[in-house]
Amino acid sequence: MTAIPKSHPRLNSLLIREKLVNGFDNNLVAKEGLLAHGRGEAFDYLIGEKTSKSAKKAIKAAAFMLKNAENSVISVNGNYAALCPKEIIALAKNTDSKIEVNLFYSSEKRKKAITKILKKSGAKEIFGLNKKSSTKLLGIDSARRIVDKNGIFSADVVLVPLEDGDRTIALKKAKKKIITFDLNPLSRTAETADITIVDNVTRAMKLLVTESKNEGKKSIKYNNKKNLKLSILEIRKNLERRAKNA
Ligand code: ATP
Ligand code: MG
Repeated sequence: MTAIPKSHPRLNSLLIREKLVNGFDNNLVAKEGLLAHGRGEAFDYLIGEKTSKSAKKAIKAAAFMLKNAENSVISVNGNYAALCPKEIIALAKNTDSKIEVNLFYSSEKRKKAITKILKKSGAKEIFGLNKKSSTKLLGIDSARRIVDKNGIFSADVVLVPLEDGDRTIALKKAKKKIITFDLNPLSRTAETADITIVDNVTRAMKLLVTESKNEGKKSIKYNNKKNLKLSILEIRKNLERRAKNA
């Protein structure tokens, strides 16, 4: 581990970077995953590296949707597993969700590394590993459409963090309710999902785990289009404040 001074003004973002770099060295994270993180980081800067009001609202709505689902699945990719493995397990437990390893850039080596860290963090059953139970989603090119028959394929609600737009659209076509974490409120995934949590997954997962612990399955009024608009306005407000003080 490289020494990062505790007083560094961007300490958290450097620690997150380090987790991803370690994840890359341990075969968890794809090269492309590092680049995708860079895109996310830029948006995190713009939102002020803290959880916004709109994100808090989306987190509440997500907890409600997951707790009321018939068959919810948490889709796990390399970045997600490298950044918050313990929270993934806790969320699955609190919401009675399945866990599926589902990769944009599929590789057996990476699947194995992800499975290992999930198991180490307490996962019992993991979907997406058995070729015999894999099937295909319609509407996307071949390598990227494989899902587990007993996992995402038969789910009513799917949590897909840091996901690509084509796949989110294909899941919507398959009539799934989609929850995502995406720091970019302008991405196709952000626009396509039913609930978009515009926040760093490392901050938002902690809050979602806490929120999903609550016994009360309290419904809230939630409109994703309105909420996304709010997150874009929050960025504008941040920028205006910075411009004023420049
Ligand atoms: P789309 O395909 O939806 O139009 P994209 O091509 O810009 O989006 P992808 O690389 O396909 O983006 O998906 C990765 C997404 O994950 C990006 O929108 C990025 O902002 C977001 N992201 C990256 N790191 C994080 C993180 N730590 N927390 C939340 N979101 C993140
Ligand atoms: Mg994309």
